[in-house]
Amino acid sequence: MTADAPASDAPKATFNRVMLKISGEALMGDQGFGLHPPTVQRIAQEVKSVHDMGVEICMVIGGGNVFRGLQGSAQGMERTTADYMGMLATVMNALAMQSALEGLGVFCRVITAIRMDEVAEPYIRRRAVRHLEKKRVCIFAAGTGNPYFTTDTAAALRANEMACEAIFMGKNGVDGVYDKDPRAHDDAKRYDKVSFDEVLAKNLKVMDASAIALARDNNLPIVVFSLDEPGGFRGILGGTGTCTVVGG
Ligand code: UDP
Repeated sequence: MTADAPASDAPKATFNRVMLKISGEALMGDQGFGLHPPTVQRIAQEVKSVHDMGVEICMVIGGGNVFRGLQGSAQGMERTTADYMGMLATVMNALAMQSALEGLGVFCRVITAIRMDEVAEPYIRRRAVRHLEKKRVCIFAAGTGNPYFTTDTAAALRANEMACEAIFMGKNGVDGVYDKDPRAHDDAKRYDKVSFDEVLAKNLKVMDASAIALARDNNLPIVVFSLDEPGGFRGILGGTGTCTVVGG
């Protein structure tokens, strides 16, 4: 089978084109910092299994496993510089994921919001759409290219630009949106569905507020699920598994 053709035995997905957002921390395993290659490979396998269903996949990966602008500025660094460092961290993560996906035979492009032509191709919307149509996974790196933003907002922005049908927020240690932190409260309740307005009003932990507003204003649902279970992403795409749908 080539990476351009869906596997014939794959269940039918409920979506044609999706955005997968994961934090940088999802790639660090138990190390507490940086990249843990076996973890990157495990997530790449999850992405491949959805790619095999014929789904067109966009990805945004954060940079928090390496550097966050807010942390740098709290330690006295100039905020804009610190944010650019955070954006560069996302490029390293994207390259690691590209390498892992290509190792599995999945064609993939890293597309950066800040030009670095020797490393990856620049963001040109129509070119990115063409990659998706050719079933190449597109990893959008360097955030929005602007300081004072986060990769959550980059995911919502690119998902809208690429006409994704939903954003899938792959989380570690949690399988949806809860009314309070399930790791601290035994009686925390998971929402099956929750509205954008409720997420914003109650400050529920989904994405940052500007990303939620961007998704809400463009009717882009957000599906929050756990990345911990093997096959979890494929299950959610196939319509099974535990998750929370943010919409309406
Ligand atoms: N960042 C930025 N503009 C963007 C996206 C990211 O300045 O459009 C910077 C910001 O400093 C942020 C860092 O890159 O802290 C890493 O991104 P993020 O915190 O979203 O990563 P995650 O928490 O998802 O790992």
